[in-house]
Amino acid sequence: MTGLSDSFNRPINYLRLSVTDRCNLRCRYCLPENGIPLLPRSDLLSFEELVSIAKIAAELGITKIRLTGGEPLVRKDLPRLVEMLARIDSIDDLSLTTNGVLLRHQAKELKQAGLNRVNISLDSLKQDKFHYITRQDKLKEVLKGIQAASRAGLSPIKINMVVLRGINDDEIIDFARRTINDGWHVRFIELMPLTPTTHPATFVPASEIKTRLLSLGDLKPSLPPHGIGPARYFHLPRARGTIGFITPVTEHFCISCNRLRLTTDGKLHACLMSDDETDLRPALRRGASPLQIKRLIQQAVYAKPPHHHLAEGITPAKSAMSKIGG
Ligand code: SAM
Repeated sequence: MTGLSDSFNRPINYLRLSVTDRCNLRCRYCLPENGIPLLPRSDLLSFEELVSIAKIAAELGITKIRLTGGEPLVRKDLPRLVEMLARIDSIDDLSLTTNGVLLRHQAKELKQAGLNRVNISLDSLKQDKFHYITRQDKLKEVLKGIQAASRAGLSPIKINMVVLRGINDDEIIDFARRTINDGWHVRFIELMPLTPTTHPATFVPASEIKTRLLSLGDLKPSLPPHGIGPARYFHLPRARGTIGFITPVTEHFCISCNRLRLTTDGKLHACLMSDDETDLRPALRRGASPLQIKRLIQQAVYAKPPHHHLAEGITPAKSAMSKIGG
């Protein structure tokens, strides 16, 4: 293994694989009510294609893989893919980002297949608000999914909440209390202005969230629950769990970005916020050698931009979160 780094010397060791563009929720800040046009199934990479890219990426220096979507748990037979990826020796961390709706049925099998841990996106603990934000009445299923993941040992479980002013910001304290009462690891995420429905007025900066949390006591800096990532962690007095802040807008973390993202149809993105992409699928399907695929990945990594321009209001024109998977 050589180790992969970009032209700014950032080590790149993390690959996010989007395994489907389908989703069973319609979160208002992510998708329109009727969804977006879906790719024909033949465009989606097969498990074998995903694994061959993962293997080549692992040879280049990728050690961490996260499955995302769309909603990854709607992809049929996902545990089989997990099992195939878990067999790649140099991958030491295999994780999943999910909305949790289908997790209770799959947590145990995913763990047995070799999945290490899950992040669960949950924006409200109130049934009516959850329904409003996601346009589906599925809060109970998600809560059962969190319990199932915990029983299965898919830990540490991180709960990701996108904070929306006037919609769920009255629940910041409720989520934070869960770090004390239930040992949850909660991460507050700043809303990225990526779709016409992400109205600027709903944006809440992390600094404000932090100030609001003072009513629960001092936030002390904390080690992350697992590895290193974009969040900055703290804990409240007597809390077993942590509170993380992810600040893509007010304080971007591009300087330490170690990520690559592959869309469901095989397009490699070196930056979530850029439309630049390298299409690996045609090469893969016309039988390119691993070395040729390697070169394509290396070129994409080399062209990774230094940072995004969200703060200046510049957003990607065509890359949808629901396709790239966050
Ligand atoms: N369906 C899975 C899930 O819900 O976790 C994976 C895909 S989803 C696109 C990944 C994450 O992106 C979720 O946590 C979601 O809340 C977040 N997300 C989507 N649009 C966003 C936006 N405009 N700003 C911040 N986070 C966003």
